[in-house]
Amino acid sequence: MSSTPDTARADEVACCIAGGGPAGLVLGLLLARQGVDVLVLEKHADFLRDFRGDTVHPSTLRLLDEVGLAEDFLRLPHQEVTQLGVTTDAGTFPLADFGRLPGRFPFLAFVPQWDLLDLLADRAQRYPTFSLRMQAEAVGLLVEDGGVRGVRYRGSDGSEHTVRARLTVAADGRHSVLRAASGLRLREFGAPMDVLWFRLPNPSGAGPSGFGVAGRISRGRMLVTIDRGEYWQCAYLVPKGGYPALQAAGMAAFRADLARLLPTATDVLDAVRSWDDVSVLSVRVDRLTRWHRPGLLLIGDAAHTMSPIGGVGINLAVQDAAAAARLLAGPLRAGAVPPQLLARVRWRRLLPTVVTQWLQRVVQARLITPLLAGTRTVTTPGVLRLLQRYPVLQGIPARVIGIGVLPEHAPPDARAAAGVGAREGRSRIPSPAAGTRGRSPVSAARRRRPALRQPALLRDEGVGVVRPAATGLAQTGCGPDGGGADGSVGPGCGTGAGSGGGVGSTGDGEGAGGWGPGGGTVTGRR
Ligand SMILES: Cc1cc2nc3c(=O)[nH]c(=O)nc-3n(C[C@H](O)[C@H](O)[C@H](O)COP(=O)(O)OP(=O)(O)OC[C@H]3O[C@@H](n4cnc5c(N)ncnc54)[C@H](O)[C@@H]3O)c2cc1C
Repeated sequence: MSSTPDTARADEVACCIAGGGPAGLVLGLLLARQGVDVLVLEKHADFLRDFRGDTVHPSTLRLLDEVGLAEDFLRLPHQEVTQLGVTTDAGTFPLADFGRLPGRFPFLAFVPQWDLLDLLADRAQRYPTFSLRMQAEAVGLLVEDGGVRGVRYRGSDGSEHTVRARLTVAADGRHSVLRAASGLRLREFGAPMDVLWFRLPNPSGAGPSGFGVAGRISRGRMLVTIDRGEYWQCAYLVPKGGYPALQAAGMAAFRADLARLLPTATDVLDAVRSWDDVSVLSVRVDRLTRWHRPGLLLIGDAAHTMSPIGGVGINLAVQDAAAAARLLAGPLRAGAVPPQLLARVRWRRLLPTVVTQWLQRVVQARLITPLLAGTRTVTTPGVLRLLQRYPVLQGIPARVIGIGVLPEHAPPDARAAAGVGAREGRSRIPSPAAGTRGRSPVSAARRRRPALRQPALLRDEGVGVVRPAATGLAQTGCGPDGGGADGSVGPGCGTGAGSGGGVGSTGDGEGAGGWGPGGGTVTGRR
C-alpha cells in the first residue's frame, strides 16, 4: 500500500468513493439518502467516455424504482428489448423472453451510460451530505497504523490532495488504481475473445433478425446486433488478440465477413468506413479473492471484471453498491466500520458474482472458443430448438440474465423517514410502496430453510458453509488465503452474519448463453 504524502489540502468525510461509475454513484446516492457524509471522486471532467455497458436489467430498474428514479430513468431516450434471439446457419431461434418476467419492468433497457450517470449524480446532489468532485483522480491510499484512512488524489490543477475517510471505497473500474495500491490478490480467469464495437445505420427501424438483441453465429464468426433505434450497435467477436490480424486483412475483407453474417444489411456496411469507426474491448474475467482491507472496500468492476456475455456489468456493479449501502450506512453514521462488516459485503455478493462468472466462462469455453476456432461446422445448439419448441422455457434465461442471483433492494431513505427534505427540487425522494422497501427478497419460508450444502462453485472462495439464517447470511469457513493478519474476516477463515440476506437460487444456466447486450455509443466519445 502507498503511504501518506505531503498534501496541499485535506478533506474529511465518513465515506470517500473513488470512481463515479455506476457502482460509485449508486453507492454515493444510497449512502447520502441515509444521511451518510459521502464524497465521490471522478477522474474525468464529465461522464462522456469511451463506450461502456448500456444495459440496464430488470433487477436494476426495480432498484431505481425503489429510490424513486425509475420514472426519470425511463424518460431518458432508451430502447426496451423484450426478446433475445440467435441466428445460426439453420435459422433464427428465440433465446430469452423478458416479457415472461414478473414485475413492472419485463424488459432490458438500453440507455447511454453517461445519461444514467448524469441522472444518478443529479439526484444524489440533492442530498446535503453528498459531494461529487470531478477531475479528481485517485492516485493512492492513505495508510496509517495498518489501516486505510483515506485517499490521495490529483485535482484538476495537477496538484495532489488528501481526503481522510472512515471508509474508502474503490469503485474505479476494471483498471482500478486503488486495487493495485491495496495489494489484494486478483484471480484472472481469461477470455478467449475480444470484441469490436461499431454502429450500422438502421433505416428501417427493425433489427436484422426481428429481435431487439440478436446473436448471429456461423463457422469462425460471431456477431451480436442490438437495436438502438436509429442504428444497430454491433459487437463482432475476434479471438483474443486477433484484432491486428483482422486489420492486416483489410477493411474490405472485414466488410465481406459482415456481409456473410448480415446478408440483408449489405447496403449499410459502408458505414464502417475505417478502423477509426471500430472500438475494441479487451475482454477479461477476474475477481479479487478478498474485497477489503481495514478501512477499504472494493466493489463493481474493481472487485470483479465481468465478460460482456449477458450484459451484466452495470447490473452487478449496482447490486454491489446496494448491498454495501444496506450493510454499511448505519455503522458509517455511528462512526466505525469494522473489517468484519466489510467482509460481509463480499459474502453477500459472492454467490451472484461467482455464479455469473461461471456461466460466462462456460459459454466462453463451450460455445465461443470452438466457434471462433472455426474448426468445425456450427450446428444449432439443442437448447435453442428446445426453447423454440417450448416458449415458456424462454423465461428461464430471461430470469438468469435479467434478475440473476440474489437481486438487491435499496435500503430505506433514512432522511425522508426522519422528515428531512432533499437539498432542492422535490422536497422528498418518492418512497417505494410500503412493505417492499429495504426488505430482503428472501421469503420467510426460505429463511427457515435448513443449512445449505456448500455450493461447489464457492469451494475455492473460502466459503465453508453458506447458511441462510434468521438474520441473513451466515458463513463459516476456511479458504486458501487464511484469516487476515489485521484480524479481518476475509477469504480465509471466519464467520459473519449478514442482514436480511440469504442464499437464492442459482438459476439454471441452460440456455443463458446469449451474448450480452451492452456496449454503448461507439464514436465521438472519449
Ligand atoms: C469499453 C467497455 C465496454 C464495455 N461493454 C460492456 C458491455 O457490452 N456489456 C456490459 O455488461 N458491460 C460492458 N462493460 C462493462 C461495464 O461498463 C462495467 O461493468 C460497469 O460500468 C461497471 O461499473 P463500475 O462503476 O464498477 O466501473 P466503471 O463503469 O468502469 O466506472 C469506474 C469509474 O471510475 C472512474 N475512475 C477510474 N479510475 C479512477 C481514479 N483513479 N480516480 C477516480 N476515478 C476513477 C472512471 O472514469 C469511471 O467513471 C464495458 C466496459 C468497457 C470499459
